[in-house]
This record gives sequence, structure tokens and C-alpha cells, in this order.
Amino acid sequence: MIPPRLGEASLRDRTRVALADPVLRPRTARAVDRFASHRVESLARLDDPGALRDAARRVRASVLSDLPALLERFADRLLAHGAHVHWAHDATEANAAVTGIARGGRVVKSKSMVSEEIGLGPALEHAGCDVVETDLGEWIVQLAGEPPSHIIAPALHHDRDTIGELFDREADGGGVDREPTALAALARERLRERFLAADVGITGANFGVAEAGAVVLVTNEGNGRLVTSLPPVHVVVMGMERLTADWQQVDLLLGMLTRAATGQSLTSYVSVTGGPRAIDDDAGPAELHVVIVDNGRSAMLGTELHDMLACIRCGACLNVCPVFRQIGGHAYGSTYPGPMGSVLTPTLDAAVPGAGEVADASTLCGACNEVCPVGIPLTDLLLVQRRAAAVDAPWTSRAAWRAWSAAWSSPVRYRASITAATTARDASGLAALVPPGDRWAPGRAVPRPAARSFRARWKAGEI
Ligand code: SF4
Repeated sequence: MIPPRLGEASLRDRTRVALADPVLRPRTARAVDRFASHRVESLARLDDPGALRDAARRVRASVLSDLPALLERFADRLLAHGAHVHWAHDATEANAAVTGIARGGRVVKSKSMVSEEIGLGPALEHAGCDVVETDLGEWIVQLAGEPPSHIIAPALHHDRDTIGELFDREADGGGVDREPTALAALARERLRERFLAADVGITGANFGVAEAGAVVLVTNEGNGRLVTSLPPVHVVVMGMERLTADWQQVDLLLGMLTRAATGQSLTSYVSVTGGPRAIDDDAGPAELHVVIVDNGRSAMLGTELHDMLACIRCGACLNVCPVFRQIGGHAYGSTYPGPMGSVLTPTLDAAVPGAGEVADASTLCGACNEVCPVGIPLTDLLLVQRRAAAVDAPWTSRAAWRAWSAAWSSPVRYRASITAATTARDASGLAALVPPGDRWAPGRAVPRPAARSFRARWKAGEI
């Protein structure tokens, strides 16, 4: 079943769908635990991971403070190398630029979250292109007709059996063995044909390097290298904030990205591209286009959400989030799930009804803050989004919070409310029968107030 998206169902209903899936939770938990433990082991091998994290945070802050000048330098260098630079204010402009370049041709793509964000795949298909995702996880979700469920592991919710069922349709004359090597071999064979026949290769960018006019791409499967070098035209789609000033910054951030994402000191393939093929080059595209996408990012600069632009899309915050491990990525209904998605979605998808709701998909436990390799204060930013969403909350909800705030802002009223709760403790279960308790209580143990309050016990010298 294709999971409901933002605007098609409420967060509550999407969560209900996810929780009703008996295999989603164990699969998700197993995968994120593996990523999280690899990250911990990898950081333990460093002398001072805290110092590196501080340095990475400073680098991202300095880039964002100088972003317009760096973007200009980056574009100038690319143009000097013979590349084409396109500036896209929003998703529509970005998709128009790419579909105009692809002209209905055969397209191979490597994993790119910004292209998911702008809906590039459907836009290309609508424009008559034949589009194939070449990252293994992305190919799996493309065959399943689903969006990715994790920003670095798009098919994390699948196992070898469900992948095998999808691949059976691709195998000549019947089924494919469920062994991972057999599944990977089939994918390699099918995708290799597509690489060789492609007219256009589309990638994202992990980092742009302003001083060099170059784009850095990291992959673990080598598909990025084939996408960037085999087709005659290469299109890079990158978020405007994914810049660095120089190679030293790339050096630092690359290590932080791969350690936080998968626990690797360095990813298997790091590809760098800076222009079309030169006359004496043996390989490479004849044309390089770089589409720099704003799509709501510049509106975040200098606001309370500014720090979110420092994100390097490592996925570490998803892997430790107690909400993500229960509901998986699809329940968020948007391109970006987990804590980083709960901050980004209300801004990037602001026009979609219910976008602000995803900021509620957090316990505010702070685990995400601790693992973020660039020190983004995610829980503070989640509260910013919750405050913004509260403006549109139903009047009953706003009235209830106002009454609670008024009661607990005065010591006298606070004590009176505690006395009332303690006196009525036997009736506390009734709260689960009336709104809003009836929506909160299913699946939970309703807490019962203690027989005697902390203050009463303190006064009596019992504590
Ligand atoms: S917010 Fe931090 S931890 Fe989460 S994806 Fe971005 S960089 Fe990684």
C-alpha cells in the first residue's frame, strides 16, 4: 500500500497506519540501531570528537553568514569551467530547468533528497522522460511506488523478501533468489543497461566548493560515478545552503558526515565534478548544468530557524529518535522525516495543509541534539515550529493550554490544582473517557496521581 502523504491524512491517521504494520517497527528499529551503534564506535576511535563537532558547527555557521558571496563565487567558477548555472526560486522553476535540459530523454538519477523535495521524478515523467533511480535503495522504492523512508537508507522498511517480490518482476523468466548477493547482482545487471543508454545523468550534491567551483558527491555503491561520467549531459540539483568555502572545510565535513551517517571514516566513493569534459579528457559529460535551489531556504536565513540550514543530511538524528523508530519515515508524510524533517517540513511544505503538525512528532528528549555532527539545537527549533503551529490550533486546545498556564503560574492555584488531582485520584481514569483524554489514552497507561503530594510529604518531613 502506498503510504498517505502530507495533506492526504492527518499525522494521527498516518501514525495509525504505520503502527498497524506488524513488521515496520522491528525492521526500522533494527536498522536505526545498527546505524547508531556504528556511529558511536566510529566516534570512539577519535581523540576529541567534541572538538571536531565544534569546528564543524563553526564552519557551517561561517558559510551561512557569508552565503550570498560564496554562492556568487561558486557560480562564477563553474561558469569559468564551462558549466551552466541555473538559479531556481522554487520547485516549479527547478523542475522546469531540469525538464528543459532532459527534453524527454532517458534519465538515470543518483540519490538526491532535494530532488525528492521538489518532486523532480514525477515532473520528469510528466515531461515524457524515462527515469530510473540508480541508488539500490532508491530503485527499490521506485519499483514499489513509494517515497524514501529514511534520508540515507530509502528502503530501510523493506527486507530481502519484499525486495525479492519487487525484483521478481524485473527478472527474466521468473523469480530471483532472496540472497542479498543475488538481489544485488540483478540490480547491477538491470541498472548497467540503463547507465549505458542514458541521455542525462542527474545527481544531488553533498557539498559545493566555492573556491574551486566544484561539486562533491558521496556514494557507497559507485552509482554516482556512473551517473556523472557516462551520460553526455550531467545535471546537479543542489540546495543553495550545501556550500563550503574551500577544500579544508570539505575535508572536515566529509568525515563528520560519513561518521554520523553510517560510522564510516570515509564513504566508498567520493566524486568531484567541476565542469564538462575537456578536449583531452577520455570520459565525462559534454555538458554540466548546476541547478541551485532556494525553495524556502533564503526565507529561513536570519530567522529563528536559521541554524537548520546548517544540516548536512547525515540522518543521525533519525537513528536515535524514539518517535522515528516507532513510526518509521512514511508517517511523517513528507520528504524529510525524523527530527530534522519535523523542523524543515513546516517551512518547506508550508502550503500543504497539516504541514505544521509534524513538529508534534517529537518527545523533545534531546537525543537528536546530542548526535547532530554540526550541533543544530533541534529541540529548540521544534519548539519554534510548535509555537508557529499553535496559532492555527483549535480554540478548545488553545483554551485548555491557556487555562493550564494560568493555573500553574500562581503558587496558590498550582497547590489547589494538585490538591484537587490528589483528591480525585480514583476518578483519574475518567479522563481517558472524555475529550481530549479519549484520543490520548488508547495504548497508554493513564497515570494516577499519588495519594499524597510531594509538598505534603516534604512538609511532614517524610522526604
Ligand atoms: S539535523 Fe544534524 S543530525 Fe539531523 S540530518 Fe541534519 S546534520 Fe544530521
